[in-house]
Amino acid sequence: MQRGVLTMRRAIIGFHRDEENHWVAELDCGHNQHVRHDPPWTVREWVTTEEGRRSRLGVELECKLCDEEA
Ligand SMILES: [Zn+2]
Repeated sequence: MQRGVLTMRRAIIGFHRDEENHWVAELDCGHNQHVRHDPPWTVREWVTTEEGRRSRLGVELECKLCDEEA
């Protein structure tokens, strides 16, 4: 099913921290996407725990980099 707005959705396959200690999700397209927990602006409490991150594996995020390449 095609939608009017092109938005690539990619599954999370892993996580790592960047040099500033922010969490980065690794997507199955090979791109990375920040998933910062930076309250009160960005609240992603789940990313701070091993269990929370594991529960998000396989969840799809919109990949702007894939959109730009498409
Ligand atoms: Zn991508």
